[in-house]
Amino acid sequence: MNRVLVCGAGGFIGSHLVTFLKNEGYYVRGVDLKYPEFSESTADEFIIGDLRDPVLVASLLEDHIDEVYQLAADMGGAGYLFTGDNDADVMHNSAMINLNLLHASVKAGVKTIFYSSSACIYPEYNQLDPNNPNCAEDSAYPAEPDSEYGWEKLFSERLYASFMRNHGIDVKVARFHNVFGPEGTYDGGKEKVPAALARKVVQAKNLDEIEVWGDGEQTRSFLYIDDCIDAIYKLVKSDFNGPVNIGSEFLISINDLAKLYINISGKSLKIKHIEGPQGVRGRTSDNKLIFEKLSWEPQLTLEEGLTKTYNWIVEQVNVNQNESLLVSS
Ligand code: NAD
Repeated sequence: MNRVLVCGAGGFIGSHLVTFLKNEGYYVRGVDLKYPEFSESTADEFIIGDLRDPVLVASLLEDHIDEVYQLAADMGGAGYLFTGDNDADVMHNSAMINLNLLHASVKAGVKTIFYSSSACIYPEYNQLDPNNPNCAEDSAYPAEPDSEYGWEKLFSERLYASFMRNHGIDVKVARFHNVFGPEGTYDGGKEKVPAALARKVVQAKNLDEIEVWGDGEQTRSFLYIDDCIDAIYKLVKSDFNGPVNIGSEFLISINDLAKLYINISGKSLKIKHIEGPQGVRGRTSDNKLIFEKLSWEPQLTLEEGLTKTYNWIVEQVNVNQNESLLVSS
């Protein structure tokens, strides 16, 4: 039985990946600072630990691990990454994790390591036109990410590539574009736009206003979690190393995303624009390379994915409301 380590196994994508790998028959060791927030982990072992600690990282790989899936990072949505307030933590913490993991993986003889980079590495100058952004893999240089989060990801991509070159470890690098779905953070400040908007719509009463940061004309594309997991696994099982985009090419403005949620809810709601961090003006995945190398493309439509996410957030909000009713009664 192949043995794998999933780093960031308590996070959104990591916890879904653990479940997928268990279903595929792997022995899964998960590690994170915390357990998954919304359901029990299905990992064979779940270690609560800090990947900035090199001693812990070495111990995780001591007894033979074939593959490492590296999803741990200090990250959040625009409210966390684009205000500048968390830059030192974001760069320091994530770089430490990647430095430790690569060093220990080579030492322990790990065959393959998957690294989750981000669309945030792409240069801002190619993402000024909301209707025509360029995020083809070969457009990454000359580099000009619009956040320190993007710069750290780019540094780490290069770190992984140099370890493959100099130490022979098989490295797979994916650049995720806005992955969303059930069991992702939806409040507290680290939530990303598809979860934040769903929560606002769920909590609004009929005829209320919901708030959108900026003018809402900024564009993005969104990938449902199951499609993301499928692409990660195809990449790891292929002989292609990347970096490669894992995302959707369906470009939509944040206003239109909010309208889709409003339609799903059946409520009549208005959008109110307020000041807030927005990131680049336009961004979408370019899937030519992943289709050519892995014959992969997303299977779910945006509306199908949003409906599943909306329904899950309805359940969460109801549970929380019932709990607060119980406490106050
Ligand atoms: P997430 O925040 O839900 O998961 C990351 C996990 O890493 C968290 O559970 C966190 O506790 C853990 N972690 C952070 N620091 C740690 C440390 N020092 N030691 C141990 N664990 C630590 O994020 P996610 O959405 O699941 O993203 C997974 C990866 O994909 C991240 O590397 C992220 O940068 C990348 N990514 C995600 C998206 C997206 O849309 N979700 C887009 C681009 C890139």
